Amino acid sequence: MKTIFAKSVPGRHAANLVLDPAENAPRAADMLPADLLRKQAPRLPECSELDVVRHFTELSRRNYSVDANFYPLGSCTMKYNPKFTEQVANLPGFARLHPLLAQLGRGATCVQGALQVLHDAERWLCELTGMKAFTLQPMAGANGEFTGVKLIAAYHKARGRKRTKMLIPDSAHGTNPASAVLAGFDIVNIESRDGMIDPQALARAIAEHPDDVAGLMMTCPNTLGLMETHLAEIVEELRKVDALLYYDGANMNAIMGKMRVGDVGFDVVHLNVHKTLSTPHGGGGPGAGPVGVSERLVPYLPAPRVERRDDGSYRVNFDLPQSIGYIGPFYGSFAVLAKALAYMMRLGGNGLTRASEYAVLNANYLRKRLEDVLDIPFDRICAHEFVASAPEGLRALDIAKGLLDRGIHAPTIYFPLIVKECLMAEPTETESRETLDEYVEALREIVAEGKSHPEKLAAAPVTLPVRRMDETAAARHMILTEDMA
Ligand SMILES: *Cc1c(COP(=O)(O)O)cnc(C)c1O
Repeated sequence: MKTIFAKSVPGRHAANLVLDPAENAPRAADMLPADLLRKQAPRLPECSELDVVRHFTELSRRNYSVDANFYPLGSCTMKYNPKFTEQVANLPGFARLHPLLAQLGRGATCVQGALQVLHDAERWLCELTGMKAFTLQPMAGANGEFTGVKLIAAYHKARGRKRTKMLIPDSAHGTNPASAVLAGFDIVNIESRDGMIDPQALARAIAEHPDDVAGLMMTCPNTLGLMETHLAEIVEELRKVDALLYYDGANMNAIMGKMRVGDVGFDVVHLNVHKTLSTPHGGGGPGAGPVGVSERLVPYLPAPRVERRDDGSYRVNFDLPQSIGYIGPFYGSFAVLAKALAYMMRLGGNGLTRASEYAVLNANYLRKRLEDVLDIPFDRICAHEFVASAPEGLRALDIAKGLLDRGIHAPTIYFPLIVKECLMAEPTETESRETLDEYVEALREIVAEGKSHPEKLAAAPVTLPVRRMDETAAARHMILTEDMA
């Protein structure tokens, strides 16, 4: 497909009904000081309006999205609904605000509504998780993790301790060790047993470094889609050495209304608003990774914080002497947070609980229906997602490509690393039974084809503009610009 630049024709305009398009337009040269004017015209494509509309419509058709079909990408929670939350976030009073307005003395009066959104979003997240306070600043899940481990470091530092070890089970999400290393910790790997954190392995690791364990980061439900069964013992072990507990709550959509992380004794949790609360993950769009903390970590939260005064008005407080500082620009991804608040208020406590129940039900329905198609390594109730292995002789990659030919997005493959030929699917709570059944039938067909005509499956996809590519080369030698010379 040609780029928009290749379609450019010198002198062509979007609306070229007047002979000289510049004739009636005000000229920048007449309005701006000469030293602000460009020396050369920008190199923009020159196209008719139809050329532009058709170009972008065609591009959008090549794009796969959850608006087009099922998107069972495990760990990513690809549901882009309900859509009414977009309308809320796009209200002109929200969408057209400048973030600096909140910091101007007079400006704060015209952003009271936006500050209330941030304040209320924080209160709702506290209620949902049982935490004392939230920072809304982190821009994504991993950014929230980094914030959380920085808070843990600040806690120990304030007590005059140098603790260097972060315990991380092998069933944790890959971003956990990355975030901890970025924040300056050494990782101690805890091997899981039968998919669960092994409290004995944990106790041994703590005994090895009794004065040096800063905390534990765990993903729950873990990357196998399983709920941990030893939560109380884990909390107790860490409490013995005053190490803090980090809960990766990116997949909160499995436990809303069922368990509150704060009630169980965790000190830090991050949520992926762009998974659980109506914005989809992935696609490079904006996210939000708010971090909730227990009482003892509140003083270290990033600045600024939105506060409610006694008279009911809101203000932005920068005067937080123990704060770890500034983590992201301004107050976080405002639009994503506004959507999250709209979603939580619309569903209410019962609705959010329902959402989690359906997410878990849908995942278990798929898991059971696929038992005779794929190998299911953990034969027990899963949470919002489950892992499977390609059957003997077949590759997860080929199965994924076969799905693309049938118009369905592939599940996550080869993650988590501890499951061989792994296919990890997450249907989300908003898919219908008919859609789930179509997915099962597609997989049944693909596995049958892989056994009877392996060469055919190995050639998939044949229906897409791009077939199999060298993914390493695509990542290492990326070409992002058009050579216009
Ligand atoms: C998605 C995810 C993350 C990372 O979130 P990003 O917003 O992609 O940075 C971390 N942990 C878990 C368990 C996740 O599923």
